[in-house]
Amino acid sequence: MQGAYTDILSRIDEPPAWFDDNGVPRYGPFSPDMVTCIHANEIVLIRIECQGCQTSFDVAMTVPRASQPLKDGPDAPMLRDYIAQRALHYGDPPNILCCDPGPSMNSIPRVVLEYWFRPVAMGYGLGCHWPRRVDDDGVPYAPSTALLNPRYAMNFQRDPAMEGIDLTPDWAV
Ligand SMILES: [Zn+2]
Repeated sequence: MQGAYTDILSRIDEPPAWFDDNGVPRYGPFSPDMVTCIHANEIVLIRIECQGCQTSFDVAMTVPRASQPLKDGPDAPMLRDYIAQRALHYGDPPNILCCDPGPSMNSIPRVVLEYWFRPVAMGYGLGCHWPRRVDDDGVPYAPSTALLNPRYAMNFQRDPAMEGIDLTPDWAV
């Protein structure tokens, strides 16, 4: 169960726009600068549903969580690996009392809305001895040639190829 934040919810007379990586209701537009984990190398905004009442929530994640281990992939899997394998798991939905059991219900991950990453997390902008992440065929990820400039390696870059991906796990189909 997540924190309730009733003090915030009771003072703002509109529904939250999204919930940050601590499950805190947020009311402005989502931006990678708005999450609380300043060390995050990846940020994903996904839509989930309360398993009890189907209320949908847009929630940010900065750390991968999965209900079971990934089938394969790199040693240090990133959020993008969990997305690709539809293994991302959010857990208890934000605690807004959407339904009586809601805060202690599970949630169903539905779709990736936004995906952001720091190119440095993929090896860009680091020394030439740092390995870049490669796909199964050994081809390095190439998010954008502009990112080969190390100056931008720490700046969040949006990857539309990771967005719109259906996250619905097999158990919820
Ligand atoms: Zn609910």
